[in-house]
Amino acid sequence: MQTVTGSLIGMYHICKRELWLHANHIRMEHNSELVAEGKQLHEHAYPQRAERYREIILDGSKIDFYDPYDKVVHEMKKSDKMEHSHVAQVQFYLYLLRKNGVEGATGLLEYPKLRQTQTVQLTNDDVPVVEGWIRDIKRIVDREQCPGRIAKSKCRSCSYFDFCYVEEINE
Ligand code: SF4
Repeated sequence: MQTVTGSLIGMYHICKRELWLHANHIRMEHNSELVAEGKQLHEHAYPQRAERYREIILDGSKIDFYDPYDKVVHEMKKSDKMEHSHVAQVQFYLYLLRKNGVEGATGLLEYPKLRQTQTVQLTNDDVPVVEGWIRDIKRIVDREQCPGRIAKSKCRSCSYFDFCYVEEINE
């Protein structure tokens, strides 16, 4: 049974093909400069983070930075654009916390490049929505066929770009 993680939730909101490839262990992250950049950002942008925040694992899914004192999930994004997939990922973490008995937690998306933050909530109405994402992800991942590509204009920063457009690259 596929463990649904925050990363899969994010991919689900961007590209079902990426979700399927990643969940089926076809990995190309080493090709992506953006992934490396994101790791660097996590390590250097806020060196004091480790002192206050905890890494926790709930239902097999890891939350990197949780502040247990204020009950806040912190999620840092390297992106220079705020996206719904980021909010969805944090809502999923809040859902996991709630499911495991932590009521009233909130999320904070941090965008160092933009110097902006965004608060994320999980309302009662959001809970069945998140559960729908989880069901849908499991259904997609179990398919034998890899879903089709999305519009190429949205693919430029994806680590699977070479994989998805190999025939064009070889032309
Ligand atoms: S390159 Fe585009 S179509 Fe292929 S997995 Fe990435 S986002 Fe999806």
